[in-house]
Amino acid sequence: MNEAISFKKIKIEQQPCIAFILAHPDDESFIPSGTIAKYSHQGIKVIYICATRGEKGHDGNIKGQIPPDELKIIRINELERACKILGINDLYVLDYPDGHLNELNPSEPIYRLVTFLRREKPDIIITFDPTGISNHKDHITVHKWVTHAYYLCNNPFYKTERQEIYTPVKLYYLTVPSHHLISITNSKEQKRYIDNKITTIINVTDYLEEKKKAIRCHQTQCFNIQRVFKFAGGMDELDDHEYYILAHCNIPGYAYEVMENDLLDGIC
Ligand SMILES: [Zn+2]
Repeated sequence: MNEAISFKKIKIEQQPCIAFILAHPDDESFIPSGTIAKYSHQGIKVIYICATRGEKGHDGNIKGQIPPDELKIIRINELERACKILGINDLYVLDYPDGHLNELNPSEPIYRLVTFLRREKPDIIITFDPTGISNHKDHITVHKWVTHAYYLCNNPFYKTERQEIYTPVKLYYLTVPSHHLISITNSKEQKRYIDNKITTIINVTDYLEEKKKAIRCHQTQCFNIQRVFKFAGGMDELDDHEYYILAHCNIPGYAYEVMENDLLDGIC
């Protein structure tokens, strides 16, 4: 091993656990589903915390939009099917109002997230990058909540009921590089600053079928699926890699060569 990158791996007691905390039913399938399928196949526990029930999602139904109360039930059913395909062990839906997360006082959702994280103790926590990938306000808000919650988990001055502090190993931000974002949205957007921050590339070549199946579960979102993905008649084929930014790591002296290719690097 290169002297410059010697560090002691963190030993964890139980089966490793990765928590994805995103905004909508379908975020898990559209973006990191290859990664989710890859780790769940390896026996890694994967949990998904979804902040909303997606009742504002445009369904692309030419006969008119499904009413929100109906749509939220349908979308959770779609999400449950996708979770099954991807091997997500536990799904938690927080039921915050879709499209309005930035209008909420953040203290309550952050408290809930810290409570949740101290109970479940995931080793790896993953949320959106600071741009929310698509600049969606809900995504950016969830990014902020999760970042706060990550740092509060091991802050002894931040109390949650009858819970002890806990230190997650890593915080990652999920991202999509500009070249791919531009091709799937057919936009003329310029290169984003976030590209230079990518630290981790996960090869998901073997899990693209699961990814497609999971995306197809979100039938009410077929308008978006067809707009974006070639396999459904849209613009571009799926990328066989998924991209992350290591935002923080609690492994003392942790370092990697050039790029990480495993979220569990540094953990044994
Ligand atoms: Zn979303």
